[in-house]
Amino acid sequence: MKTYANTVNGRPVTSDRSFESKNPATGEVLGLVPHSSADQVAQAVAAAKAAQPAWAARPDAERKALLMKVAEAIKANADDLARWVTREQGKPLGGVGPDQVPGARFEIWGCEVWTQVPASLELPVETVFEDETRRDEMHRKPFGVIAAIAPWNWPLLIAIWQIVPSLRAGNTVVIKPSEYTSIGTLELVRLIAEILPPGVVNTVSGPGEVGAQLVENRDIDKIMFTGSSATGSRIAAIAAKNLTPTTMELGGNDAAIVLPDADPKAMAMGLFWGAFINMGQTCAAAKRLYVHESLYDAVVAELKALATAMPMGNGMDDGVVMGPIQNRMQFDKVVSLVDQARAGGATIVCGGEAKAGPGNFYPLTLVTDIADGASLVDQEQFGPVLPIIKYRDVEDAIASANRLEAGLGASVWSTDIDKARAVAARIEAGTVWINQHGMIHPMVPFGGTKGSGWGVEFGVDGLKAVTQPQVISIKK
Ligand code: NAD
Repeated sequence: MKTYANTVNGRPVTSDRSFESKNPATGEVLGLVPHSSADQVAQAVAAAKAAQPAWAARPDAERKALLMKVAEAIKANADDLARWVTREQGKPLGGVGPDQVPGARFEIWGCEVWTQVPASLELPVETVFEDETRRDEMHRKPFGVIAAIAPWNWPLLIAIWQIVPSLRAGNTVVIKPSEYTSIGTLELVRLIAEILPPGVVNTVSGPGEVGAQLVENRDIDKIMFTGSSATGSRIAAIAAKNLTPTTMELGGNDAAIVLPDADPKAMAMGLFWGAFINMGQTCAAAKRLYVHESLYDAVVAELKALATAMPMGNGMDDGVVMGPIQNRMQFDKVVSLVDQARAGGATIVCGGEAKAGPGNFYPLTLVTDIADGASLVDQEQFGPVLPIIKYRDVEDAIASANRLEAGLGASVWSTDIDKARAVAARIEAGTVWINQHGMIHPMVPFGGTKGSGWGVEFGVDGLKAVTQPQVISIKK
């Protein structure tokens, strides 16, 4: 069985200990992943620290050009990388384009685009004040060494979101992928590292304790974390002790509100993918649907028609639209939340019964006759389930959307954009989409509010977030 290597200082590194990476569709062991030792974590940080001054000192144009080469390498290896994503994470290979299933090929295309865009952005020096006595300039400097901790749901894309802007701004990086989806990320970073000077991007791998060793290293200058709110809270406590700045992209429980004037047929496909992209294992997927009573039955019928028509299976097979749930822990959580809803009197419109093994397959599940307070509504279930809640007064739907600690995304569906915008403005979430859900873009800042975290990624604001401002103040 092949052991995949970390990349530290441009060289492959394995460890005395390793663990298995499994295909969630088949249970097959795909390979072994090193469990980085504490010393190896320290070595990776030391390599990043040693490489950082020279990397930051390079002309901006050189860093941009190297990152454009990274984008080319991702494109040239897109097929291999997509296969890793499908075999390790579960999403089907799918394709790229509006009529294609947004699966692993879409994820790798996203990696390419989310590399090109930050590589093309500028952070010019701003003159923030000037008069006859003084001129004050705002410069943007890198932090130094960035620790990146990634989750398992969009493993390569999220790694790119953390790595590329950081490098673009002159930081170096040590990234720890999720222990559930390490190989694809190790392979991606190996490719990236071949293009860059040694030590500029490094990996460590292992479970949460390896992540903890990384973030508590005193040579880490900023932490980029994407994952659950519970882990985010633990990392924020370490960061508070060391006064390390953080970006926290945490869990969501996005509400989607369907206003009385929406068109159930026209919006059904957008709403469906807003909820079920990547089997609902997406931070900003619609996880609670609030539908006005006048449209309730029509919306449920449209979604049921779509949910029951999507072929589910091994994502490597042609024609598969939905894959497995990525890991058993997540699978058991989904089973338990649906069982609790059923026991509480909810109606399971479709799905609701786990499929027999070996893969972690759970059918797309719609749940009605359910209300706020049910654990399926209140907790981030992070799976292929959508509770649909009936409302009469839009004020109640807004209050429902805002009543939880989560504040990542939300959406409002209506044929009247002004009406939808007025509702959107009152929702406590980092992004509120109108007549779409989860439609992120590399130029548009994305981040959470409340328990969903702080800081943004993407666009110029995302690039600023991996820099620290320095004012140079000149007496005239
Ligand atoms: P998780 O919090 O369990 O794990 C995330 C990462 O943190 C993994 O690499 C894990 O090994 C590491 N980790 C665990 N304990 C640690 C510790 N004490 N110190 C340092 N690192 C530690 O999350 P997950 O289950 O992998 O991912 C799913 C969660 O991520 C969901 O809640 C989802 O909403 C969230 N998420 C958020 C966004 C966003 O942009 N807001 C994007 C994707 C996923």
